[in-house]
Amino acid sequence: MNKNRTCVLWLTGLSASGKTTIAQKVKELLSDSSLKIHHLDGDEVRTAAKEKLGFSKEDRDKNIKLAISLAKNYQEKGYVVIASFISPYRYHREWGRESLINYVEIFVNTPLEVCEQRDPKGLYKKVRAGDIKQFTGIDDPYEEPQNSDLEIRTDNLNVDQCANLIITYLKDSGMLC
Ligand code: ADP
Repeated sequence: MNKNRTCVLWLTGLSASGKTTIAQKVKELLSDSSLKIHHLDGDEVRTAAKEKLGFSKEDRDKNIKLAISLAKNYQEKGYVVIASFISPYRYHREWGRESLINYVEIFVNTPLEVCEQRDPKGLYKKVRAGDIKQFTGIDDPYEEPQNSDLEIRTDNLNVDQCANLIITYLKDSGMLC
């Protein structure tokens, strides 16, 4: 990475699409570089929030605004940020593009049926049982990106291949030497 440059790798996609898994792998692959890397995820935002944020549109907006401001703070400290958030609305991602330096939008595109089959946290099962409402992709919207910088189909590739697509993108765009 050019020393004067930082970036935010913003991973968007459905729950269980693979955002966290790919983010962790990219961080691992970049661990030998001299870069300072931070993986920002929902847990950190929930901890930073002054109030408990749920899944209403208003709370989802607050969550993303807070995530962007945390990402900005890390950028100012010289970190490359890998952010993994469902960020379901197009305007969420537009906020990111407007607010962050070298924002790279990565659409982790995994069909809903595949996400539901994976279901690593058992959330889809709970949704189908009626225990969770307002779940993205089921009874809450996910607006697919139309102008993402990179799109990754995780149903055809393994985790290493997905992470390497991101590394290649960074090299090709001159952000990683
Ligand atoms: P998210 O953060 O999008 O909610 P997770 O990363 O927590 O999703 O879960 C994705 C699940 O899918 C994990 O159990 C992971 O092992 C599995 N998986 C299978 N193939 C892939 C792939 N190519 N990329 C990412 N995750 C994958």
